[in-house]
Amino acid sequence: MNIALIAHDKKKDNLVQFTTAYKAIFSEHTLYATGTTGTRIQEATGLSIHRFQSGPLGGDQEIGAMIAKNKMDAVFFFRDPLTAQPHEPDVSALMRLCDVYSIPLATNMGTAEILIKGVEEGMLEWRELRNENKGENQ
Ligand code: PGA
Repeated sequence: MNIALIAHDKKKDNLVQFTTAYKAIFSEHTLYATGTTGTRIQEATGLSIHRFQSGPLGGDQEIGAMIAKNKMDAVFFFRDPLTAQPHEPDVSALMRLCDVYSIPLATNMGTAEILIKGVEEGMLEWRELRNENKGENQ
């Protein structure tokens, strides 16, 4: 499955901690991240990650484009609800696309714990089956 990882600055430590704890699960999937988040996770875990632009420079939109093309299966987006983001429109657009395409989106650690267990147990495999049927997997 294709999984996106994004964290606002004050939440990056949390996402690094989370991906470290669940490294074994994440390592079985294809990972994408915004620039700085991807670097932080890669350094801490050694996981292989496709890195897009940094969020404020368009990374959120690049991940959004993958969602619009039905190429993203789950999104872990640790948002900082207490700090204004210069790219707030991009953040909203990314979450909106997840809703448009019914892509599971975890915006905090509590939901992330549930979502990663769903990924581990294969609860999202229907997406891969659907893509295989359409002949457009990966
Ligand atoms: P970053 O972007 O990983 O490049 O910091 C995340 C964001 O703020 O959207």
